[in-house]
Amino acid sequence: GIAPSAFRNGPALWRSQLPDHATDVHKYGRGVMAIAAGGLSGVGAPRLGARAALRIGAGLATIICRPEALAAHAGRGPDALMQSAAADAAAFEAASRSRKLDAVLIGPALGLDAEACAWVEVALRQSWPCVFDADALTHIGARQPGFADLLSRRSGVAVLTPHEGEFKRLFGEAGGFAAARGKLQRARQAATQTGAVVVLKGPDTVIAAPDGRAAINETGSPALATAGSGDVLGGVVAGLLAQKMPAFEAACAAVWLHGRAGEELGRGLIADDLPEALPQLLAQLY
Ligand code: AMP
Ligand code: MG
Repeated sequence: GIAPSAFRNGPALWRSQLPDHATDVHKYGRGVMAIAAGGLSGVGAPRLGARAALRIGAGLATIICRPEALAAHAGRGPDALMQSAAADAAAFEAASRSRKLDAVLIGPALGLDAEACAWVEVALRQSWPCVFDADALTHIGARQPGFADLLSRRSGVAVLTPHEGEFKRLFGEAGGFAAARGKLQRARQAATQTGAVVVLKGPDTVIAAPDGRAAINETGSPALATAGSGDVLGGVVAGLLAQKMPAFEAACAAVWLHGRAGEELGRGLIADDLPEALPQLLAQLY
C-alpha cells in the first residue's frame, strides 16, 4: 500500500503537550527520573543525561550506578542537584520497584558485561516509561535474543534512541531493515515491530510511533556529532516523559530542541553546553 506521509517535526506537532505545571507544584510533582548508569568507566554520560533531564524540567534526577562509581558521581560539584544511589542488579530492581519513578533512561555508559545485561532485563520487565539508548540497545539486539520479546511485550512506554550503528545491531538487515530502504520506512517498521517509539538518529533524525505516526526532523548541526550529544538527547526525552508528556510528542520535542541547541551553539560546542541552552529555548516555546 501507499505509506502514510510523515509530519515535519516542529512545535506545531507537540507544543500543546509540553509539560505545564501548576504554580504550587513541588519537585516530586514535576517528575522523578532516574538514570541506570554503569561503573567507573563512564561517569560523564549519565551525568549529562541527568543534567539534561533537570534542564528540561524534571524535578529530580537520580543516577543509579554501580557501587564503585558512587563516590565519583556524588563528589561532583554543581551537580549537587542530582542524587546518586549505589546498586547491583538486584538492588536496582528493588529500587525500581519501591521508588516512585516517573521515567528511566538506561544505556549511556551502562557497559556490555553480564551485570549491565541484568540491569537491562530489569528495565525490560518494569513498566515505568523508559528510554533505551546506547549499550542498552546493544544488549537488546545481540547479547540476549529473548530481550526482543520482552521489549515487544513490555507494558510501559518505551522509547528507543539508536544511531544508525545501533539500529543495525538492533534490527539487522533482514526483513524491511536493509539500509537500502529509506530511513523513514525503517524507523516505522521498527516502531511497529517493537511497540516502542523509535528515534533513528543522525543528520536527518526520524521519529516513528507504533501507531504509524512519524516525523522527520529539520533542526540540527554537524556540531552535534560530538561525544555525549546523544546522551543529552536521551536525558531530554526521559525528562519529558517524567513530566507525563506522551512518548511520541516527547521524542519529537526533544529531537527538535536538541537540534536547535546545536544550531545556536554551532562550532565549538561540546555536549555539556547542550543542557545549558535549554532554558532559553524553552522561554521561546511557552
Ligand atoms: P550519539 O551518536 O548517540 O552520540 O548521538 C548523536 C546525536 O547528535 C544524535 O541526536 C544525532 O542526531 C546528532 N547528530 C550526529 N551527527 C549529526 C550531524 N552530522 N548533523 C546533525 N545532527 C547530528
Ligand atoms: Mg549514543
